[in-house]
Amino acid sequence: MRKFTLALCLSLSLGCAFVASASTPTPDGVGTNAAKLAEQAPVHWVSVAQIENSLVDRPPMAVGFDIDDTVLFSSPGFWRGKKMFSPDSDEYLKNPAFWEKMNNGWDEFSIPKEAARALIALHIKRGDSIFFITGRSQTATETVSKTLQDDFLIPAANMNPVIFAGDQPGQNNKTQWLVDKQIKIFYGDSDNDMTAAKAAQARAIRILRASNSTYRPLPQAGAFGEEVIVNSEY
Ligand SMILES: [Mg+2]
Repeated sequence: MRKFTLALCLSLSLGCAFVASASTPTPDGVGTNAAKLAEQAPVHWVSVAQIENSLVDRPPMAVGFDIDDTVLFSSPGFWRGKKMFSPDSDEYLKNPAFWEKMNNGWDEFSIPKEAARALIALHIKRGDSIFFITGRSQTATETVSKTLQDDFLIPAANMNPVIFAGDQPGQNNKTQWLVDKQIKIFYGDSDNDMTAAKAAQARAIRILRASNSTYRPLPQAGAFGEEVIVNSEY
């Protein structure tokens, strides 16, 4: 049938586009149109420059960042940890042996995010005090603080050691830390970063989790009406 259509097209060259498309339908769900492209959720997108402008004339303050998928693309360590400690489940996330590895060197394989570089640089320029508050489990020793300070060129005067808030189900451990440290802006990729910030009356700003992160499903950025930084997936 297809050969016949092509032969017909070559010989007649009239109405061939119609004949060809009618005989070779595209698979379901493939293709787009103006209506589909125009459909957008009312997400409050912001750029790093807009955040900077919003802070002009504000005195130095404490600001906080989540770590995984916010400032570091750390999936390589989590990928390795799952294979090593619990290939068939997420049990590795409860295994202190995994956190010993992750918090003591595996961030050498974590890629700093460009959006985080720009944000941290702007807060250093403003003289803000920078906190990192993570859901990672605490370990006896850690090199994450040093790695972050080196990756993002944070002067000692602006840097605070990483706060390991832990991640117990049913409670948001980050909220109290945000209150205690009087953090005015908190950046994160996860829903619980946004809810913690709002509960602590800090300004919640979302960073996009990279689509190849091992942490699935991807959250719905902007779902709480929070600001979402453009191009922050890397
Ligand atoms: Mg995160």
